[in-house]
Amino acid sequence: MAATCILCGINPPIDNSHVVPKFVIRRLKDGNPLQTLLHSDALNQSFQDGWKGAYLCLSCEQRFSKLEAWFCNKVYDPFLSSGYLKLTYGDEFGLFVASLAFRYLHLIADKNPTKQLDSNLKSMQENLRTSLLSSSVASITSFSYLEFLFPITTIERFPPGINTYFFEAIDGSAFDYIIVPPSDKFWILYLKIPGMFFVLSERELETYMRNPTPLLASRVGNTGVMESINQPAGLSLWVEDIFKRRSVEIQANYSKVPLKRVEKFKLRLSKIVGKESSRAHQTYLLDMALVSQWETASRPSVRFPFWIKIMVGLLLVSAIGYILLIFHRR
Ligand SMILES: [Zn+2]
Repeated sequence: MAATCILCGINPPIDNSHVVPKFVIRRLKDGNPLQTLLHSDALNQSFQDGWKGAYLCLSCEQRFSKLEAWFCNKVYDPFLSSGYLKLTYGDEFGLFVASLAFRYLHLIADKNPTKQLDSNLKSMQENLRTSLLSSSVASITSFSYLEFLFPITTIERFPPGINTYFFEAIDGSAFDYIIVPPSDKFWILYLKIPGMFFVLSERELETYMRNPTPLLASRVGNTGVMESINQPAGLSLWVEDIFKRRSVEIQANYSKVPLKRVEKFKLRLSKIVGKESSRAHQTYLLDMALVSQWETASRPSVRFPFWIKIMVGLLLVSAIGYILLIFHRR
């Protein structure tokens, strides 16, 4: 809990400023007939909202709200409603990604009170803070990327659960990427909302790829054009392991939800008319199709580590197939 606003450092923070913008939560709930959020670390409770806390003062919250409104109207809603986006953008884009990353770094520190934030992450955070205060994308030293996500219809690359992860989950992670040789590392911040994900990296990721071309279309610069069909999933390469792990975790989580709650969800779902047309149901069908591929195919390829194959065997409590899961782990 901050004593003063984490952005300006002057005014007292208001009670509940959002780490994940409100429009993300609203859209998640709207597409789900149960209208319920589950957090992966508290499966026996329901939540009405995403991560929030006393972070920002009213005027800084309003500053971020403007960026959120821009992103929601220009990027999020158009892409989610049509599956396509072509956008010519200016400063707002980079500032929005920065605002998300900046808040997320505070959340990490809050959730891990006994662990000091790594000094490089602290510098990243401070640079984001001053750049956001002066609304200057040019002074942000880290590198921002966004990649859009699309439905997965075969099990070649990801296990079942991937569609739920792509379209019904919010996630975040900070990890260090180690380069050997020479012995060196840098930090990558990963943030995922339904339909897309962001990466903020201490270093320019292109430099570390044999073929950087697929990444270029994901880069969020000062100004530019971003088009969803031009992205050949170059950014996914950096976080593919997270995608796989979370997909499997989703399945494992379903099996951990207490039986009583499963019964309750079932009952509520059975009374909802027209749930089949909801987005969450469509996502659920996509994953169930992957499940049957997984079961009928001669056991999936060696590309999946052994533990993934084992976990998928536990699959899926279908009655609660479309509850939402929000992850948080450092
Ligand atoms: Zn403030």
